[in-house]
Amino acid sequence: IIYDVTDVAMSNKALESANQQLEFLSRTDRLTGLNNRGYWQECQEQEFSRFQRHKTPTCLLIFDIDHFKRVNDGYGHAAGDEAILHLAKILRKNLRETDIGGRYGGEEYAVILTETDAKHAKIFAERIRRLVEASHVMYNGIEIKFTISLGIAEYSDLFVNHQNWIEAADSALYKAKTAGRNQVKIYQPNANDNAEQ
Ligand code: GH3
Ligand code: MG
Ligand code: MG
Repeated sequence: IIYDVTDVAMSNKALESANQQLEFLSRTDRLTGLNNRGYWQECQEQEFSRFQRHKTPTCLLIFDIDHFKRVNDGYGHAAGDEAILHLAKILRKNLRETDIGGRYGGEEYAVILTETDAKHAKIFAERIRRLVEASHVMYNGIEIKFTISLGIAEYSDLFVNHQNWIEAADSALYKAKTAGRNQVKIYQPNANDNAEQ
């Protein structure tokens, strides 16, 4: 009986650990080890609901590598992957435990900065931007440099759903791109010209 019980306990434990591993894999981006888009969006949705109850300032930051197609075209897809990984490492090193970072698209990342207003989110975003600008990726002995553009949207009551919040950050990112790239823009909910600074 002792052996049987031990066997069951052992296999339960193995099953539990396998399930945990499976859950981790299902929410993790393979290349970067960051949260994948699906899981990040789940967190963002939760954060949106949480905010509606608690009203603490929270910002959403989205950023994207500038002219990334040039990296892929000029040095190859594997070099592009190295650049994506390099950016993920910079992001990971700078995240606080309460921040929720994820790979949002190919060379696009998103971060939920909890307990952070737009002014402080901009300080964080500028730090990441400068770190990327000052660094480089080595690939097959070649030095590859790139920059990123970033968009910030602080949560606002004007957002009807969590998707509106992402769209706001995305529109700030778009402004950063059209303003010349390698810069940070903040979404301005009440301005005609939606993203400034
Ligand atoms: P922009 O400054 O406007 O962002 O220009 P861009 O060239 O970066 O344009 P865009 O963001 O639209 O380009 C995304 C490119 O990223 C296109 C796609 O081939 C590439 N890409 C997407 N996912 C991956 C990936 O996992 N690895 C690599 N190497 N490339 C990827
Ligand atoms: Mg992109
Ligand atoms: Mg890009």
